Amino acid sequence: MDVLRTLGLRRTPQGERADTRQELNAAGGYAFVLDDVARLRRFLTLGVDGGTYYAAPRELARENAEVVGRMAHEDPETLVGTIVDVSVRGAAPRQNPALFALAYAASVPESAPLALAALPAVARTGTHLFLFAGYVEQFRGWGRGLRRAVAGWYTSKDADALAYQAVKYRQREGWSHRDLLRLAHPTTASPELRATFDWIVRGAVGDATPTLVEGFVAAQAATDTATWVDLVRRHRLSWEMLPDAALGEVAVWDALLDVGVPQTALMRQLPRLTRLGVLPDLGGRTDEVVAQLVDSDRLRSARVHPVSVLVAQRTYASGRSARGAGEWTPTRKVTDALDAAFYAAFGAVEPSGKRTLLAVDVSGSMGDTISGMPITAREASAALALVQLATEPAATAVGFTTGQGGGWYDSALRPLAISPRQRLDDALRVVDAMPMSGTDCALPMVWATEQGAEVDTFVVYTDNETWAGDVHPHQALAEYRRRSGIDARLVVVGMTATGFSIADPSDAGMLDVVGFDGAVPSLITEFARGL
Ligand code: CA
Repeated sequence: MDVLRTLGLRRTPQGERADTRQELNAAGGYAFVLDDVARLRRFLTLGVDGGTYYAAPRELARENAEVVGRMAHEDPETLVGTIVDVSVRGAAPRQNPALFALAYAASVPESAPLALAALPAVARTGTHLFLFAGYVEQFRGWGRGLRRAVAGWYTSKDADALAYQAVKYRQREGWSHRDLLRLAHPTTASPELRATFDWIVRGAVGDATPTLVEGFVAAQAATDTATWVDLVRRHRLSWEMLPDAALGEVAVWDALLDVGVPQTALMRQLPRLTRLGVLPDLGGRTDEVVAQLVDSDRLRSARVHPVSVLVAQRTYASGRSARGAGEWTPTRKVTDALDAAFYAAFGAVEPSGKRTLLAVDVSGSMGDTISGMPITAREASAALALVQLATEPAATAVGFTTGQGGGWYDSALRPLAISPRQRLDDALRVVDAMPMSGTDCALPMVWATEQGAEVDTFVVYTDNETWAGDVHPHQALAEYRRRSGIDARLVVVGMTATGFSIADPSDAGMLDVVGFDGAVPSLITEFARGL
């Protein structure tokens, strides 16, 4: 046998380097390395809670922090600009990574002025500010620049807006507004703002104190339903401003719904509202709550993240909370509304009309939960595939993992029997029931080549920890293009915050995107259209 016949650039086992830009991934295969900006986007969007199948959370956090540190020195404009973009667009389900990165950037001389100037844009609520304060102490002390930036957060608001923040988000992570005001010492010419500071720091109420503060103080002191109801209506109090005892009263919730419960709060309170009998199958407040849940304008303006809706849908449909605190009988209309809200949260996605193969990596590592949320990478992938299925008339979905019977290298690519006509929780159960084994991200392209299938766009949802194939995914795509004559494109949807991608960064027909970003379905169809 001629050993020279075994080497080449068109077909390389995944355990060997096929390109000098590839490095060994955690699973023992070679994959392309993301640049810092792409890695940052993954970190900001996907977070590191829960780690990955291969990396402990702390290890994954350290790797990503290194990227932030490097960019803070080398390219502070792009770092801070990306943090602001991901945060303001609502691209991520949680703000912690953005606030962490901003806090880190606020400690590096090259990036500190930009980072501190961006504080009000990224820390939009009191809770965000408290998270930032906790993170920033991990990197620096309370020097003048930081104190001035925090003072600016308080003085740039009018008194009513600050009072709202002060009574709604009172403390978090060991931080309160009193702590921050004592550190930052803001000064202001506005009597109302000064009175609000006085109330926060000393509990002093005077003529200039915003009336919302008075309403809050009265609600905390009250013990009867009629008073709470009156205060909610008069001061437009939100549920966070009421004592726990008030939140067990139907009349209080009727008042809260009358003055308006914001979108995210409403989603979280659905189990409680159902338990209290506010959302029966017929009558009650069900129809108006359902109408609000599916209102796409409200979803967009409240920056409701689709993955948050997905988690809410599954939790609500299951009839019990993830922490085991309480049970309820789900109201069908509400479950269905959350289902519709999930699709609506992505906004309008214009179909590409292309023949699209949606390929979900269902291998073992995709069974890990992601981003500290009660959902696995393969469930989230299936949900994203459903959005594409709902949009794209000529799309079909498959799940892939290596075969179990005849060894790791057997291909196992199966139709994914999910449909947007199914309920989300039912569709995810289908994915959960599929067998899991090793990872070969080339399978979708190899399969299409073998079958002579006509595919314009391959969309692969994966953690990029591919290792088990005898050809690299980008080589398999090149082979498919050659054999089919179709200039097929590949979109890689990354589901964990690792630094690898199966997409060749120098091939304009391949695109790497971040799985949780709500803009992904639109990005995929635009790329498929050649934009
Ligand atoms: Ca895997």
